[in-house]
Amino acid sequence: MSPVNEETAVVSSVATSISIPSTSENPTSVPGTVMSSTTQVDDQGLEIPLGMCDFITEGSMGFGNHSENLPDSIVQIGLTGSYLPIIAEHWGPTSGLQVLVVGQVHGDECASAFVVNELRQRPPQNFGLWLIPTLNPEGHFRGTRTNGSGVDLNRDGLAQDAPETKALMAFTELVAPDLTVYLHSPLNWIAYFNGSLAKSVGSRIVNALGMNVLYTSGTNPPESAFLWQGQADVLPGHQSILIEMPSISTKEAPAAPNRSPDSFSTVEKVSVFASIVRDTLDEAMKELE
Ligand SMILES: [Zn+2]
Repeated sequence: MSPVNEETAVVSSVATSISIPSTSENPTSVPGTVMSSTTQVDDQGLEIPLGMCDFITEGSMGFGNHSENLPDSIVQIGLTGSYLPIIAEHWGPTSGLQVLVVGQVHGDECASAFVVNELRQRPPQNFGLWLIPTLNPEGHFRGTRTNGSGVDLNRDGLAQDAPETKALMAFTELVAPDLTVYLHSPLNWIAYFNGSLAKSVGSRIVNALGMNVLYTSGTNPPESAFLWQGQADVLPGHQSILIEMPSISTKEAPAAPNRSPDSFSTVEKVSVFASIVRDTLDEAMKELE
């Protein structure tokens, strides 16, 4: 049995012991037959679990690769506490500017899957993309904001209690991206952190989406630091953008703070949003080459 198969066996046994809670805050229409299959397997044998984002509403999707394209490389950057693999894919040019996109941090946030899908359907031409489809496969599988141990990864940037956070920081140090883009939902705003590249690219995305205002991402105290603070700790001066998308469904991210009517959208509108983000990112990088 190869190492990959042994790992698959572990993942399968863990996965069958977890079930997505069927509460008023989560979709009650999660098909049990689909959940019992638990995972999608790509050609490299690494798995992204199915989860609430695959089923939350008609037309929704999770973080598996739905395109006909394959990345030029795929690596396992860590394991969750339940031994689910955390993967990163590389797409596009291997030289020049490299951008890390973290598709999902909170497991109950689903809109970002549409940006992940756009980037795989139409890989970037003007920058190299390191894509972590989901940093929180346990949360995605369970339908929770936190990981399986109750850690909010985006308050763990410096404490680094979670294996997911440790994996992201080690990977940041390893590949030293020029920019990181974090995808969240459902608050419908965009922010930048730590420098002119992030501000420039963030402004372009804001303008393309007709949002008008670019916010700053901010910092938290060390005990609840954001992930971008942790990145700047391991890679001094590291710049990032935070894209808070509107939700694809009112069932998405029920615990998110500061919701407003702008927080809610539809699969159709989020698909357009995602396409604009992908195109604007690629255009911005062309000018910065
Ligand atoms: Zn979030």
